[in-house]
Amino acid sequence: MDPWKFVTHDQFPAIGHNLKLKVCPFFRRVGTLSLHGYLRGQDEKHHPSVRARRIFCSDRTRRPGCGRTFSLFLSHCLVGLKVGTAVAWAFLSGILAGLSIEKAVYAVAAQHDLSLSTFWRLWQKLKGAQAAIRTVLSRECSPTSGPLRPP
Ligand SMILES: [Zn+2]
Repeated sequence: MDPWKFVTHDQFPAIGHNLKLKVCPFFRRVGTLSLHGYLRGQDEKHHPSVRARRIFCSDRTRRPGCGRTFSLFLSHCLVGLKVGTAVAWAFLSGILAGLSIEKAVYAVAAQHDLSLSTFWRLWQKLKGAQAAIRTVLSRECSPTSGPLRPP
């Protein structure tokens, strides 16, 4: 996992502690990063929540940074989606248990008061990310020996 993309809840408050000792992922220079606010959104229950911490590579007042910002997301967030990893996992578990995509969507959407289009967007993102997911999985574990079952 990219250390500059996701952090856990435990790591989140300590992001700024040694930020000046970290390397900018774009500029590859140390000592230029600073905290730059929060990325906020709504969770699955439509409550406002913090989704990420913004980091700024400072180029102000003759500082040598590149001026770019990036986000450190909480690890339970899915970038670009309202649903978190727990709801996404419930949806995928339904599919793995043998439900059709439609039935898995209805089962999870009814439990969490979410629109059906949310899960279709999640499904389309998963389909579009197959190459990246399979590349990571091939590095992390061996292929399964069981029969392949397309969803
Ligand atoms: Zn930079």
